[in-house]
Amino acid sequence: MTRFVKTLAAIAAGFILFIACEGPVESTQLLVNTDDCTGCGECVEVCPYNAIEIIDGDAVIDPSLCHFCYRCVEQCPEGAIY
Ligand code: SF4
Ligand code: SF4
Repeated sequence: MTRFVKTLAAIAAGFILFIACEGPVESTQLLVNTDDCTGCGECVEVCPYNAIEIIDGDAVIDPSLCHFCYRCVEQCPEGAIY
């Protein structure tokens, strides 16, 4: 086996190990339970990325702006963001 092939095999093995250690993939978007959301706007106030707005009385999160800081989740008095 050439040194090049050995190097490729080592890189592949490392990559596979890395993937194996990643564990379950987390959700890629926070959601709002509109049954629980009261439209109070507290989540809008705490979001540092202006990723939330109130539309028709419910919070709506723009996934393209969200950085998953979870401040809105912690702030929501209704536990409506998950
Ligand atoms: S803080 Fe909670 S209840 Fe208030 S608008 Fe945001 S999601 Fe709705
Ligand atoms: S997780 Fe952070 S960035 Fe994303 S919507 Fe909530 S407060 Fe904004």
